[in-house]
Amino acid sequence: MSEESTPSGIPVERTCPICGAAFTCMNSPSCWCASRTLTDRLRRHLAEHYTGCLCPECLDRLIREEAKETQMKPG
Ligand SMILES: [Zn+2]
Repeated sequence: MSEESTPSGIPVERTCPICGAAFTCMNSPSCWCASRTLTDRLRRHLAEHYTGCLCPECLDRLIREEAKETQMKPG
């Protein structure tokens, strides 16, 4: 699906599609984003709306909002 040919393990400069902030994707399991826990739902949402990563701030915000939403629903 992805057309990116960047070899893994090489940090990539990216721009956040939400806020436009520049951030670095480590492109590896040691990336900061690997320490974030994304629900399947949030993962799908990101894939549908954005290409690639978000900056740490936006990703954290979405994770918080997602957690809030999930908590509100009983069961
Ligand atoms: Zn952002």
